Amino acid sequence: MNKKLYVGQCLICHQGMLEIVKEKKSGKIFVACDECEAEWETPEDALKNINGTRGKYGAVSEVTFKEIQDLHWDKYILL
Ligand SMILES: [Zn+2]
Repeated sequence: MNKKLYVGQCLICHQGMLEIVKEKKSGKIFVACDECEAEWETPEDALKNINGTRGKYGAVSEVTFKEIQDLHWDKYILL
């Protein structure tokens, strides 16, 4: 079981956490709020709350830490 990979708190709903997830169909890795389901292409955008979308992606699965390291997003992960 992977631990959840969060990068911060959602600036839209102020309740959810920003989680790095992967769309099952495309394998595309992005950031989603676990409450309001807003989505961002990158952690930078999520943390600034710019370029957010909803419903752009389908079902998601968890990502591995390795996949996040490959994107150089590991620096955003909350420990
Ligand atoms: Zn939210």
